[in-house]
Amino acid sequence: MIDTSPNTSHDDPIDVLIVGAGFAGMYMLHRCRQHGLSAHVVEAATDVGGTWYWNRYPGARCDVESLEYSYSFDADLEQEWRWTERYASQPEILSYAQHVAERFDLKRDITFGTRVTAARFDETTSTWQVATHADGTGSEDGGGPEGAASLEARFVVMATGCLSSTNKPDFEGMDDFAGEIYHTGEWPHEGVDFSGKRVGVIGTGSSGIQAIPLIAAECDELTVFQRTPNYSLPAHNGPLDPAWEAWVKTNYPSFRQANREQQAAFGSHVPRNERSALEYSEEERQQIYEERWQAGGFAMTRSFGDLGSDEEANQTAQSFVADKIAELVDDADTAALLTPDQLFACKRMCVDTDYFATYNQDHVHLVDVRSTPIETFTPTGLRVGDTSYDFDIVVLATGYDAMTGSLLRVDFEGRSGQRLTEAWSAGPVTYLGLTVPGFPNLFTVTGPGSPSVLTNMIMAIEQHVEWISDCIVYLTANGLATIEASAQEATAWVGHVNRVAEATLFTTCNSWYLGVNIPGKPRVYMPLMGFPDYVRRCDEVAADGYRTFALA
Ligand code: FAD
Ligand code: NAP
Repeated sequence: MIDTSPNTSHDDPIDVLIVGAGFAGMYMLHRCRQHGLSAHVVEAATDVGGTWYWNRYPGARCDVESLEYSYSFDADLEQEWRWTERYASQPEILSYAQHVAERFDLKRDITFGTRVTAARFDETTSTWQVATHADGTGSEDGGGPEGAASLEARFVVMATGCLSSTNKPDFEGMDDFAGEIYHTGEWPHEGVDFSGKRVGVIGTGSSGIQAIPLIAAECDELTVFQRTPNYSLPAHNGPLDPAWEAWVKTNYPSFRQANREQQAAFGSHVPRNERSALEYSEEERQQIYEERWQAGGFAMTRSFGDLGSDEEANQTAQSFVADKIAELVDDADTAALLTPDQLFACKRMCVDTDYFATYNQDHVHLVDVRSTPIETFTPTGLRVGDTSYDFDIVVLATGYDAMTGSLLRVDFEGRSGQRLTEAWSAGPVTYLGLTVPGFPNLFTVTGPGSPSVLTNMIMAIEQHVEWISDCIVYLTANGLATIEASAQEATAWVGHVNRVAEATLFTTCNSWYLGVNIPGKPRVYMPLMGFPDYVRRCDEVAADGYRTFALA
């Protein structure tokens, strides 16, 4: 265990300070060790797992298939781990993370229960001075000391996750509510007992859509407050097909490679039909949609090549889903309210098990809070317009300050005292989604400006971790103390990310990709579409000796 008591000595900085012990931080630590770099991880939670540590709400599971949503860096690990379902549940993914931590003996270099609060780049020593605060929960392994401490490191790698800063809307009267309030992303470890309870759920994104059917199965009365109806495709989850598992495990290297060549880094076995939806007759189109709806998961999003670029083509997918909802939901008014009115796949698609049919149960109610927003919490529940609702438990499935939230919650001070919050006041400015001008030796795993949330994220994480560690090895081998993105390259990069997004229809709706779910956040499309092109750009920069950066 590293000594996190104040360490202001400049004699012995660690090479790499990693913030976060999710899949990104764990692999970063392992990779640093493989390269002989000294590394340490600071993690706010009391264990590894990141997303899968925090999101213990009922129904939490992956919507990328389990044989794909897993590390590829170690062939033995790939072979030995057994997934039980097509889409892994949160407990199974958390067990996998714990297995990885144990297998590679990671925890001895992780301080748990400790948050990085600030980091300042010291231009005289070319090191980061990092302030931490142990929140008092400590570690399940006897970990982090309480109180503040500082660390010194040559490089800081932010493995803090894209969906790790919860968004809790500031509803009036929340503190006066006498019942319990839980955010899906900070779910109690002991679980929540919904039996016999009146429950309100606010939010119908992926988290809400997964949790609602299971909460409904347990509680007495469930009221769902929906602002925007969402597209959700059936998962058709089930036990993992042993023949498919055997095939993938026999062909893992080529299977992974085929996925790396996909735009979203997964789903090579569900090829995208590149032809236009408008080239087909109505009957043919319906048949293609139907087959892909039945295949489950994201298959339908790959039905035609122009769903993301042609409104008329997109409209055909919208109509197909609307018809499905009308079939699945008995009450016509409820079905209409559940039917999305934005472009198909413009907001992050959801994948569900029995979501729409849940509204056929008498004790499940849907309230539209777009036409009349939630006005206030009351001591006994919520008020929407003139109507009051009484609850024992309210679940906030209200999402995240995505992509930039966890980065901006650390008080970063770069060159010449520049703050990250100022540098990003008009939106995140990165080069390759990996580095920030004015903040030397700082790396972001799956940062804004990289494909990140538009991909199978473990694959994106692996690519970033490998790029970052190779870069640090290169600098070290060449006696270089700093690497820094130029403002010019970063401006050009942000322009590139925007141009790629603007060539699609997907900048037009109020998605969290654009930051619009957070009041006051600049409206900027943050992730970069297209994994394979992106990887090629990163590889070219590395192969060229990182010459597009300032090296010193
Ligand atoms: P995280 O897992 O978010 O880990 C970051 C860690 O950093 C956290 O443990 C956090 O506590 C810690 N941290 C943050 N700030 C600090 C700080 N200042 N100091 C110390 N520690 C800090 N992706 C997919 O590809 N497919 C899916 O199906 C999928 N499903 C998802 C389901 C849910 C419910 C959510 C919320 C996300 C899902 N994602 C999915 C995205 C998921 O976040 C990534 O797949 C992946 O787990 C991210 O790993 P990470 O290590 O980058 O970040
Ligand atoms: P989300 O997609 O941002 O959904 C939040 C929901 O809360 C939206 O319906 C939003 O409405 C609503 N909301 C927010 N503030 C509100 C307010 N003040 N009043 C009423 N409603 C409000 O968040 P999420 O569901 O947690 O998902 C976030 C991301 O995590 C997903 O997109 C996905 O990437 C990942 N995830 C994946 C899975 C999976 O299946 N693997 C599961 C969970 C999460 P608006 O739409 O109108 O803003």
